[in-house]
Amino acid sequence: MIYLDNAATTKMLEECADLYKKYACNSFFNPSAGYGEAGEIKKELEGVRQTILKKLDTLEGDIVFTGGATESNNLAIMGSRRNGKTEYIFSVGGHPSVYNVAKELERLGFVVYFVNLQKNGQIDYAMLEGLLNNNTRLISVEHVSNETGAINDLERIVSLRDKYASKALLHIDGVQSFCKINLSLNKTKIDFYSLSAHKFHGPKGVGALYVRNIKGLKSIVFGGGQEEGYRSGTENVGGIMAMGYAVNNIDIEKNLSYVRSLKEKMISILSSDSHVHINQFEGSPYILSVWFEDVNGETLMRAAAKNGVIVGTGSACSSKKAGNRVLENLGFGKEQIKSHLRISFSAELSIEDIEKAGKILLETYNDIRARVL
Ligand code: PMP
Repeated sequence: MIYLDNAATTKMLEECADLYKKYACNSFFNPSAGYGEAGEIKKELEGVRQTILKKLDTLEGDIVFTGGATESNNLAIMGSRRNGKTEYIFSVGGHPSVYNVAKELERLGFVVYFVNLQKNGQIDYAMLEGLLNNNTRLISVEHVSNETGAINDLERIVSLRDKYASKALLHIDGVQSFCKINLSLNKTKIDFYSLSAHKFHGPKGVGALYVRNIKGLKSIVFGGGQEEGYRSGTENVGGIMAMGYAVNNIDIEKNLSYVRSLKEKMISILSSDSHVHINQFEGSPYILSVWFEDVNGETLMRAAAKNGVIVGTGSACSSKKAGNRVLENLGFGKEQIKSHLRISFSAELSIEDIEKAGKILLETYNDIRARVL
């Protein structure tokens, strides 16, 4: 099986599983307990916070461990909302764990705006500029789109915020970029950055939120006061330690140029068929968006899986819903959306894997197309 749905999740490293086991079966102490063994675990968790801060190139700010990026996004947005004259700006391209929080804010009576996408997949910066003002409390934008792979220009967003809404907080959903695309929070002054371990070969159900100024954050989970009160609940020690290992293990630059070559290879194979269309976004090498004339993406995805190639039809979290908010906003027609596939890579793949998978995808597509036409 050749797995090309790495934006949905990645295979966990064996070493992460070993570490998880160590902290589940041997060093299993509750980090909040008072004895020395527990204190050691607490110190090790601190080490993972430092590892993440280092990867984000910053000494400033805190890391709150969460149960994954859905929770990180909820915490950043719900935890920074304030009553009174406050406004909230979201990218229409956000993952459901951001978009549906925005909808909930709207339902609660807050002033919420959505910024459209440009043809290249990035947010419409001019529209964002027009919405920013002194009442803007929070701006939330994805770094890399999980649907299209488009990369938003974070420096540009920071400078717009600084110029037109200097009091506004900036939340970036970094799930598809953390450990994949370098970012220096020392240079780019972002207030919140969400990440999720299972997108970079760590375990599922564990993630983190980077917070520049933690004093301003309100908790959304109440209980025993773990994570300095910002996220109660006994920490997922094994998961966090395994996440730390995965972060340490990744060489972002090396992977980036290698994965770029994988994506280019796939593009060259698929574009040999004039009925296959590559969606050219200003994007991450890890994600390729394609549509296949006359064939339903879901049908092709299932048939390709039977033939040994796993690809996605888009965000796994929204794959059961009809339509696609992000592609619709980009101006894609119904037919293009229905025949869309998302192919997403990892540095674990070989060029031979891509050659084989590309061939199988085209053969499967042409088989189905011949039957439906
Ligand atoms: N944001 C983005 C951009 C994502 O791709 C995902 C995962 N599909 C999430 C948030 C949610 O992450 P998690 O699965 O850790 O809740």
